[in-house]
Amino acid sequence: MRGEYLGLGRSDPIVKLDGTLGERRRVYLDSAATTLMARDIYDTLTRYLETSCANSHTHAHRAGRATTHAIDKARLAVGSLVGYDPAIDSVLFSGNGATGALNYLSRALFPPELRHYLKTKDPLGSVRQASAFIEPRRLARLLLLAERPLVVTTVMEHHSNLLPWVQAVGRANCRFVEVTDQGLLDLADLRRVLENEGSRVRLVTVAGVSNVTGVKNPIHEIAALAHAVGAELAVDAAQMGAHVPLALHAHGEAEAIDYVALSGHKMYAPGSRGALVGKLSRAVGAQCVGDVGGGMVESVSIDDYVLKDDLTAREEAGTPNIPGTIGLGLAAARLLEAGLDQIEAHEAAITEHALEALSSIEGVTVYGPSWTRERRAGVISFNVQGLPHGLVAAFLNDSHAIAVRNECFCAHPYVKRLLGVTDAEEARYLSEMAEGERRNVPGMVRASFGMYSLLDDVQALVDGLRELTRERERVALAYRSLPNGDYVRVDAPHELDLPPVFS
Ligand code: PMP
Repeated sequence: MRGEYLGLGRSDPIVKLDGTLGERRRVYLDSAATTLMARDIYDTLTRYLETSCANSHTHAHRAGRATTHAIDKARLAVGSLVGYDPAIDSVLFSGNGATGALNYLSRALFPPELRHYLKTKDPLGSVRQASAFIEPRRLARLLLLAERPLVVTTVMEHHSNLLPWVQAVGRANCRFVEVTDQGLLDLADLRRVLENEGSRVRLVTVAGVSNVTGVKNPIHEIAALAHAVGAELAVDAAQMGAHVPLALHAHGEAEAIDYVALSGHKMYAPGSRGALVGKLSRAVGAQCVGDVGGGMVESVSIDDYVLKDDLTAREEAGTPNIPGTIGLGLAAARLLEAGLDQIEAHEAAITEHALEALSSIEGVTVYGPSWTRERRAGVISFNVQGLPHGLVAAFLNDSHAIAVRNECFCAHPYVKRLLGVTDAEEARYLSEMAEGERRNVPGMVRASFGMYSLLDDVQALVDGLRELTRERERVALAYRSLPNGDYVRVDAPHELDLPPVFS
């Protein structure tokens, strides 16, 4: 199941605390940001490029046909990975990961030219008032939209599943479900929101797995709650697609997931292709929400154009990122073959061990709920008492060749809640940030796992943290902070060890 991954099985340069240089096995604990690429995917892509590199939409020659065929297969593999029903669901590729997929969905559900009405105090009244100036074909759709202008999301979301909705319907039409003191989604709060305003809610949208605490949300239960009030459910599966089984329709229609957003670069695929899978034809209708241009039209004259019927052809204008698309398809096929149940079990064993080991280190605080396999996936955020998160991450990298992430992981509201940041503290560091000073921005350190992670990786992290807590004074003296929040050793220029990309 592990296979070979580009970038693993190598050593990185390190500088020990006393300043001597050395090397250590590279330990990659940042899979929640981007996974490493599987060598077999890289090899297959190289073979494709050697034999069949060409434009898609081309049937005249062998390579063009092979390319078009490979993209069709990639779509099928991505759909199959999430248990789509090809009779109902479509698979659309995005150019910029889950962010692109979620933004596309927000445009499909709340078309930009109609948003202005939704942001008024009385959306339905505003549309009725403006009805004389609206095309009749658009009016019916707008009236329907205006009846349900609300989006329910949560305070634990990554910004990519917050901001598209704030931009689409306005902050006043968003409801942000709270988290419990433990960091779990507060389902009672969700129920309350839906009981009070369910008839005006168009969409409920939640992360399948949090990128901060690894908390798994009960997405099928949430789907049932959303459907009961006539709303739909979108799942941001950026942290789920490669780690936890996901089957859109497995629990029956009442609990089915309507839309799911995936992130290729978190699924062992190259680049940042993403995908949106779900009941898109209902949301999009016969219009085109995406770009216009080549490939998506049946016919064009100077006076008019006719869109293609097929939704994916219509919505994916131009030449796609072909290696990225094929890579994502290969990654999906590989995950399907390995079996997400098995992958989840492997990562659960690593996570359980890591949570236990980290909690045993004095001064380490782990955020989020206590371990159960049902509740948490392989993402662990923590802090070391008395040491800035940036310093911890820098030390682990510089002295132990361990890659972790730090700061707020693009989930500011959730991180602030977990840290208990007060409004006054927030106001203080925001005003410092406005002056270019980020040293006091609160945050955490995050270790995250993938299917290639090992118990040895956890041991390396524990060893690094034990040295750090034992030698905290020496570590603090060995580093200086920069205004951007980074920490660099006082005795070495930081950039020296960067591997060259351009010669
Ligand atoms: N949602 C979550 C939960 C994420 O962790 C991320 C990436 N960190 C995103 C959305 C955005 O994904 P992408 O980088 O593919 O746009």
